[in-house]
Amino acid sequence: MINVDKIREDFPILKRTVHGKPLVYFDNAATSQTPQVVIDTIVDYYSNYNANIHRGVHTLSQEATDKYEEARVKIQQHFNAKNTYEIILTSGTTHSINMIASGFSALLEKDDEIIVSALEHHSNIVPWQMLCEKTGAILKVIPMLEDGSLDIEAYHTIVNQKTKLVFCNHVSNALGTVNPIEEIIAKAHQFNAAVLIDGAQATPHIKPDVQALDVDFYVASAHKLCGPTGVGMLYGKEEWLEKLPPYQGGGEMIATVSFEKTTYAGLPHKFEAGTPNICGGIAFGTAIDYMNSVGFKNIANYEDELLKYGTEQLLKIEGLKIYGNTSNKTAVISFNVKEIHPYDIGAILDKLGIAVRTGHHCAQPIMDFYKIPGTVRASFSFYNTKEEIDVFVNGVKRAVRMLS
Ligand code: PMP
Repeated sequence: MINVDKIREDFPILKRTVHGKPLVYFDNAATSQTPQVVIDTIVDYYSNYNANIHRGVHTLSQEATDKYEEARVKIQQHFNAKNTYEIILTSGTTHSINMIASGFSALLEKDDEIIVSALEHHSNIVPWQMLCEKTGAILKVIPMLEDGSLDIEAYHTIVNQKTKLVFCNHVSNALGTVNPIEEIIAKAHQFNAAVLIDGAQATPHIKPDVQALDVDFYVASAHKLCGPTGVGMLYGKEEWLEKLPPYQGGGEMIATVSFEKTTYAGLPHKFEAGTPNICGGIAFGTAIDYMNSVGFKNIANYEDELLKYGTEQLLKIEGLKIYGNTSNKTAVISFNVKEIHPYDIGAILDKLGIAVRTGHHCAQPIMDFYKIPGTVRASFSFYNTKEEIDVFVNGVKRAVRMLS
């Protein structure tokens, strides 16, 4: 059970006002808010043991290294990776995906096929298009259906012996759809294709078990699960990470360097060139501890309640259409009202202290599918309340009155 009043005390930002009104923060699918324990971790790092890691004999460097590596273990345990060195710390989901796309340019040949879903964020589309340009590989798309789910039957006909890689998000950030990744992974493996799952939007709601999923790569960003921006993770199966070449050259990722020959460090350092976001990595570990202390089952149950309530209340507004209203979705509601431009609704809601996102949500192909320029997107987190939903729904009604 969630004690939402107690949880809200953990988030200092929730006490602020915007344009003189209490903040209603419904832009959680863009980034989540930060609890005090994570803020304290950041302050503690810069106040007490700020130092570069892995190469210092002095005490501060050792303390920072220990905390950074403890965070890696927390991430490993959270995602149930078999080995700590299968967790690469990155600057976020986008960085993680680009790392794999770049590595596969060494493994793909002309006319190999790679498969993307129609529900992807641009960061899980563009790197693969760039990879196809470089290698001559062909990009195929799993189509979507009107209810915002994937046409999984079509996927079964697209995947074949030429398929080398399949990538799909676990949850769509634009619509909230939960994709059948178990089925996608199992089918790809019948053809020995690797699978990358983009967990950026799933990880705030679901605790993935990468071994049970048997997924080859799983990527996520800390800032979506109560951690700081600029840090994220890449899980890769050891055999794949060994096979892929390093992404960047530099310090930290080498074993020996000479002008005749350089040898690379082992995992995970082979993929971690340069000074990382040390403080961010440590705070990512704290954020994972915090989320687990709330409990992912509690989070999912409570957010489902908010989703159901918000959906019911919004649908009472005449002319309001929700996109992607599947039965299997997380707490994201993407909608439009009549012909009103989503930006206009968002701007009026802001004046009422309500933060929502408007636009294409970095998923233009989904907007093209529905033949719309964008949507208003309200996304709930476990620190939101039904009372806030009431304020939001009244705000939408007011905006519609003003704009009709
Ligand atoms: N994929 C999905 C599904 C996302 O929701 C996001 C963030 N909106 C990203 C990828 C990109 O994440 P980041 O900007 O943290 O790299």
